[in-house]
Amino acid sequence: MIRVGVAGAAGRMGMATCAAVEAAPDLELRGRADPALGVALEAILPDCDVLVDFTQPDAALANARAATAAGVHVVIGTTGFDAAALEGLAGANVFVAPNFAIGAVLMMRFASEAARHMAAAEIIELHHDGKLDAPSGTAARTAALMAAASGGEAPPIHSVRLPGLVAHQEVILGDLGQTLTIRHDSMDRSSFMPGLLLAIRRVGSLPRTPTVGLEALLFED
Ligand code: NAP
Repeated sequence: MIRVGVAGAAGRMGMATCAAVEAAPDLELRGRADPALGVALEAILPDCDVLVDFTQPDAALANARAATAAGVHVVIGTTGFDAAALEGLAGANVFVAPNFAIGAVLMMRFASEAARHMAAAEIIELHHDGKLDAPSGTAARTAALMAAASGGEAPPIHSVRLPGLVAHQEVILGDLGQTLTIRHDSMDRSSFMPGLLLAIRRVGSLPRTPTVGLEALLFED
């Protein structure tokens, strides 16, 4: 059994994570930390093998520091902070992904491939109006991957925030007389759970830390 704690357990993603962990036969939910629950992270760490963080951009880094210092592996889904600051954390492994939906990871991969062959691209990301960061971590990572693949500029990103949306992204590529659109939609937060559970199961045996992106667990190259 892997003992799991959740930071941000009272939030939208945190609640979905707690339910998914409780439903998994090989995982055990051992703690829910959240200011709204009056439970501090330090109170749950001694009882956990893995901490999942779905908090806020200004909290994720300190939480990762506290967890790794306590020997607890960390899976971070929080976006909007500088993941480069995770370099050098010692004591346990860190895995961070801006998007745990497998379809979104495929969208990023296909967009990177397309960027090699099409003249220009723009990204439109659309999220619920409670999202704190813009552009989304997924859009920023897609743009970085496309720039690396094409050797050109990162595509511009347009952010839309509206009630009714969950998490959506469109990559539109243009060239002479044609466009190509690659789109992914998360209809609800269950879309993130299979990828998240995979990361929880694998974080303890990562070959390098921090590891960034679910693609590192899905594709051999
Ligand atoms: P949310 O509903 O606002 O939940 C965040 C929760 O974390 C809140 O209950 C908040 O409490 C709590 N919190 C704040 N600081 C904390 C700390 N230091 N320790 C413990 N808990 C703390 O947000 P959400 O929609 O669940 O999203 C959370 C994050 O996940 C965002 O960064 C979002 O972009 C990201 N996200 C990632 C993925 C992915 O696949 N990687 C998917 C969806 C969302 P208070 O409200 O009391 O401050």
